[in-house]
Amino acid sequence: MSITNLIQLSGGEEIREKVLNFVNQNKPPKVSPEENLDEFVREGLNWQRKLFKNGIIGQFLPKEFGGQGNRLIHEAFALEALALADSPQLPGIFGITMLAPILLKYGNEIQRKFLPHIFEGSTMFCQCFSEPEAGSDLFNLKSNLTEQNDFYLLNGQKIWTSFARYCGWGFGIAKLAGYKAEKKQEGILFFLVELNQSKNIQIKPIKQISGVSEFSEIFFNDAKVLKDHIVGNLETGWKITLETLFIERVLLTFARHIQTIKLLKKINEIIIDEYRREFEKLLAEFNLLRLTAYKHIQDIDQGKELSGESSIDKYVWSEHFKKSAKIYRLLAIKTKDKTIIEDANRTFLYSLGRTIAAGTSEIQKMTVAHRVLNLPRSF
Ligand SMILES: Cc1cc2nc3c(=O)[nH]c(=O)nc-3n(C[C@H](O)[C@H](O)[C@H](O)COP(=O)(O)OP(=O)(O)OC[C@H]3O[C@@H](n4cnc5c(N)ncnc54)[C@H](O)[C@@H]3O)c2cc1C
Repeated sequence: MSITNLIQLSGGEEIREKVLNFVNQNKPPKVSPEENLDEFVREGLNWQRKLFKNGIIGQFLPKEFGGQGNRLIHEAFALEALALADSPQLPGIFGITMLAPILLKYGNEIQRKFLPHIFEGSTMFCQCFSEPEAGSDLFNLKSNLTEQNDFYLLNGQKIWTSFARYCGWGFGIAKLAGYKAEKKQEGILFFLVELNQSKNIQIKPIKQISGVSEFSEIFFNDAKVLKDHIVGNLETGWKITLETLFIERVLLTFARHIQTIKLLKKINEIIIDEYRREFEKLLAEFNLLRLTAYKHIQDIDQGKELSGESSIDKYVWSEHFKKSAKIYRLLAIKTKDKTIIEDANRTFLYSLGRTIAAGTSEIQKMTVAHRVLNLPRSF
């Protein structure tokens, strides 16, 4: 049976139909990031541009920026329909799902000018949050901004920055140099930085176990950040940072359902009776986590401030993806097909990273315990 019939869709019929018609007339690129990352980004950006120009993505972007003037839930419908129609993950997805909602809410006029470029892929942003001493404990960050006349000088190191070497810009956080903070979260500024400052910014790719270098280290050495490119201010810096993380855990995770749908399709193609029951459980769980995500996306649309609930989406999705990848690997071995086995091995290794990116499973579980279930801190 086709996977489309197994995944229960509800709502967004008009968008789904539009996506299907578009994809039938314009074939999506086929390159996978594991095969050729450069080509995946190049072809993916062309595809992203087409999708934006034809009103498929950019659903929640106001019309004045070339979008459709709808809500986040419509973007989710579009992304899901694209996944079912075999569209690849969009290279500019970090800017679209994390930065764009933040700029719409907190950005000034200059910063909002990035919005159409983020969607059409002409400006790709990476997320410069994590540092060697600040991953789970993000507010332990050491990068700092020193105030000059109409700009700041940025110094410090970021790490695990996905797609950095393909990006012209980064959004990130740093502490204001010299600020006497009483609490860890004080003195944080959320900035946009142009990465094309070769004398002051060095991007060093990190080779992963899969052989691909999807992420990099970034070294900032007196890099320039314009004051106009500070989103919010010293009072709101930490709040905007947390909000970005919450949106990442809901909306970026939802965009990653593309990967689950692709994986479930692959499992469906080689399923054998021995694993059928397990596969049905995976499908049922996937439907549940999709419905939870729908609810949280609609909550954001209605102006509800998300907090610990966002960790449910990220935790359940990444653990489900890892479980699916394990089953794909077991099934792949049974096929004795070298290409399928290699693909399954790559997918399994990739799935391990997903339980770390955007906050580890341990941290997500703790967040749910404290912020959703109100369990005591010592638990
Ligand atoms: C594929 C991938 C892509 C990424 N992309 C980006 C990106 O684009 N931009 C970006 O900024 N970052 C990115 N990251 C970084 C990611 O956000 C961090 O790796 C993650 O937050 C964990 O931080 P850490 O690696 O420093 O590990 P640590 O925080 O050092 O954690 C190490 C281990 O200790 C556990 N641990 C830590 N604190 C606690 C605690 N209090 N209680 C219990 N256990 C704890 C963790 O769960 C983990 O198992 C990416 C990571 C991966 C794997």
